[in-house]
Amino acid sequence: MICPKRTSELLDLHLAPFKDKDPAWEIGVSKIAGRGVVATRSLKRGEIIFRDSPLLIGLAAHEEDSLNACSVCLKMLPDTRFMCRQGCGLPVCSLCAKKKQHKSDCDLFKSWGPNEPDVANSVIIRLLCVARAINLNKEQRDLIYCLQANLDNNHRTEVRNAAKCFKNFPTDKKLIEIMNRTVAVLRTNGFDKTTDRTNDNQEFNYRALYPLFGVVNHDCIPNAYYTFEEKTNNMIVRAAVDIPEGFEVTTTYTKLFTGNIARHLFLKMKKNFTCKCSRCSDPTEKGAFISGLYCRDTNCTGLVVPEISGLPHPNWNCLVCKQKSTHAQMMKSQDFASGAINAKVNSNSLRTLVQYLNEKSDSFIPSSNYVVIDAKMSVLQRLQQGREDCSEELAHNTRLRYSRDITQLMDKLGLGDSLLRSHLEELLQREEERRAKRLADEAEKQLKLTELQAKAAEADKLLEVLEKEQAEQAKPAGTADPGTAPAAPPLATAELA
Ligand SMILES: [Zn+2]
Ligand SMILES: [Zn+2]
Ligand SMILES: [Zn+2]
Ligand SMILES: [Zn+2]
Repeated sequence: MICPKRTSELLDLHLAPFKDKDPAWEIGVSKIAGRGVVATRSLKRGEIIFRDSPLLIGLAAHEEDSLNACSVCLKMLPDTRFMCRQGCGLPVCSLCAKKKQHKSDCDLFKSWGPNEPDVANSVIIRLLCVARAINLNKEQRDLIYCLQANLDNNHRTEVRNAAKCFKNFPTDKKLIEIMNRTVAVLRTNGFDKTTDRTNDNQEFNYRALYPLFGVVNHDCIPNAYYTFEEKTNNMIVRAAVDIPEGFEVTTTYTKLFTGNIARHLFLKMKKNFTCKCSRCSDPTEKGAFISGLYCRDTNCTGLVVPEISGLPHPNWNCLVCKQKSTHAQMMKSQDFASGAINAKVNSNSLRTLVQYLNEKSDSFIPSSNYVVIDAKMSVLQRLQQGREDCSEELAHNTRLRYSRDITQLMDKLGLGDSLLRSHLEELLQREEERRAKRLADEAEKQLKLTELQAKAAEADKLLEVLEKEQAEQAKPAGTADPGTAPAAPPLATAELA
């Protein structure tokens, strides 16, 4: 571990252009791992903790169809014909072609001689973020070496593969080592289109390294969250909950809604450590039961959760009847449920999926289970794009119900603010307002109806009175109708007959 003091000095240099005079954080010894970012005063929920700028940034260029962007400003271009005319093998817009950054990228790649400089090649474009480390100054490069790097067997593959795309790729050991190290640091601490640091429902389209954020340690209930400024790609890190002075600032490296076992496995494999946070030490995950399954005993209504053992295949315990089950037994239930729900997720009908989640899935899987949450998230996402075969009524009710379900689960886990939460809360508020308006509209309609009915009743009464009056007038009250002959007295008629 590199000492916190040296890391702080290098970070100060990196952050100099916009560092606060009185920062709310410092690099300190961490209770979680090595060193971390510690709050130097108490922070209120929502307060900015720090800003960070990318030390390295480039196009992610993961897929062949995402190569139409400028390698300097990173903006999308109409197609892939914007390759630099100087033969560096990089796409660049006409404005950026004249910029200093491209001059330095261009000189470097031209000297390596791309095999086909006029064709957009994802390997070359993706390498740029890594290769830019070569042109950093000494302190900036030292900062890269200060950050955690998983130097496994695979970290050399990228540069090795890229070498095949150039005629004169450098053979200098020091240059290759810098690039390999940068790849490892990017893989451990960087952002990339496909890494799990894009878990907060925000897609990050580039490949980038934010050094201060790279020092922030993991907790499965993070107390901080981040957003990006679109223009500068700078990162803003805020307190997700109130953070007391002296507490470590944390973020999450995993998806929020995965169970204990899956998170452990991911952190072990990809990030090389075992998480011992409060969520990981609690088999019920703070009562959120993200991995919870029903008891195999059909007479028991209890939930079954995996033991905290650190093993990849722990035993599971029913919280009611205490029955033990093996991991394999419980995985059978989980796989069955996942299979059934995912089949509905992948079917084309949104209405069928919603009906299934509302009426059927509860009979074989608890609604807190991650597969149900994932399905609900995908419903909300699809509803955002249009309501497909759902009626307006069903779409409204579903938005209201699912965003409420998910935020309630976040509350149980003790998760504070995040982009996901603000998105769900916004949705919830909009739906609640819509519902309130609909109820008000209905009440108004009802009022109008009552008024109308009252008026109708009044009119009826009036009519009745009128009719009565008419009837009164029509009675033979001594005055004969001039048009008809006076009626003969009944007796006379009888006599005539
Ligand atoms: Zn550009
Ligand atoms: Zn160029
Ligand atoms: Zn944890
Ligand atoms: Zn049981």
